[in-house]
Amino acid sequence: MAFAYRDGALCAESVPLDEIAQRFGTPCYVYSRAEIEHNYRAFEQALAGREAMVAYSVKANSNLAVLALLAKLGSGFDIVSSGELDRVHAAGGDARKVLFSGVGKSAAEIRLALEAGVRCLNLESEAEMGRVDAIAGQLGLRAPVAFRVNPDVDPQTHPYISTGLKQSKFGIAYADADRLYREAARRRNLEVIGIGCHIGSQLVDPAPLVAATGRMVDLVERLAKAGIGLAHIDVGGGIGIRYRDEAPPPITDFLAGVLGVLGGRGETLIVDPGRAIVGSAGILLTRVEYVKPGEAKNYLIVDAAMNDLLRPALYDAWHEVLPVRRAESGVGAGVYDIVGPVCESSDFLACERRLAAGSGDLVALMCAGAYAMVMSSNYNSRPRAAEVLVDGRDAHLVRRRETTEQLYALESIPK
Ligand SMILES: *Cc1c(COP(=O)(O)O)cnc(C)c1O
Repeated sequence: MAFAYRDGALCAESVPLDEIAQRFGTPCYVYSRAEIEHNYRAFEQALAGREAMVAYSVKANSNLAVLALLAKLGSGFDIVSSGELDRVHAAGGDARKVLFSGVGKSAAEIRLALEAGVRCLNLESEAEMGRVDAIAGQLGLRAPVAFRVNPDVDPQTHPYISTGLKQSKFGIAYADADRLYREAARRRNLEVIGIGCHIGSQLVDPAPLVAATGRMVDLVERLAKAGIGLAHIDVGGGIGIRYRDEAPPPITDFLAGVLGVLGGRGETLIVDPGRAIVGSAGILLTRVEYVKPGEAKNYLIVDAAMNDLLRPALYDAWHEVLPVRRAESGVGAGVYDIVGPVCESSDFLACERRLAAGSGDLVALMCAGAYAMVMSSNYNSRPRAAEVLVDGRDAHLVRRRETTEQLYALESIPK
């Protein structure tokens, strides 16, 4: 277990979290190197014996230390902006293992990606196909492309993280796919190499992913008959994790159905998980400022807020809250909403939790490795939290806490 109690203190690997708070301050994100590797290896093992690539979805957690670790393990990367491409480069990742997804790639981003030699651009509209074709022509090269197809299967997840339905802004309609593939195959500056989809996030049941894979294979077979052969099938990410009582099957079981549908087909299988690699590998460490009893509710006001962890406010997400040391201040257990200092009623991190914690005590919000720090903001002029990567007994500061001066460094007052 990456985060567990040892001698009464919640630890990240072998380092007590109160030591981390003392050294680096709070609020602070803490990641476990071993847990990230463990999660990556689970995908590697599930895909063993098949031509396959894991392309970690950078947007889930784009800290350079996380990317460098995954690059070293051999991971590819799924990116959605040239900023993420810069990060992959800065972390020592290989552009030839990069897939560029996203509905709104600018001309500049397409140019940068083609010049860098990314493995594939995932086209999400007819207009984008035209733009990529034109830019590749100017650069005098053939752009490796795939279409992100919308298989129109319901992932049965939260509507905000459901991305594969007809009404979604992502991908091309399944009904248009044959026509667009034929068109792309005719374009001189495009090299059609694959097909992709991504139906949603935090899936706990593999059935929709298996259905989506089946829809893609049907299409791949039709295209083959039309003389369009593809080198890879990208089934996306979206594999869910346990925040509370969700029970997604282990990765090997989750992907078994997809592997079954693909059988002995020759295409390379690509999977682009984000959450399932980093979600369980991070926590947000925060200190209680005040205990505020009220008529209707009791509050623990902590030094982390919605600007540090937006998921509860944005998705109504649930994160487990654990005391770093049980009842340090000798306070009895109560039922609290854990809220931050930001001036919004939606600034809550957890609601109605039974907890024994008093002013000065540390608590940890669990499973905060994915879509957490990356969504942070400076609202209320709050400097962003520090990030620490623990490796065994060592705690490395992998992002310094911001200073207020850094927040307004780009601003100026007209003379
Ligand atoms: C966001 C995204 C992913 C990763 O989703 P997770 O739910 O974090 O696994 C994978 N592929 C694409 C195209 C994405 O946009």
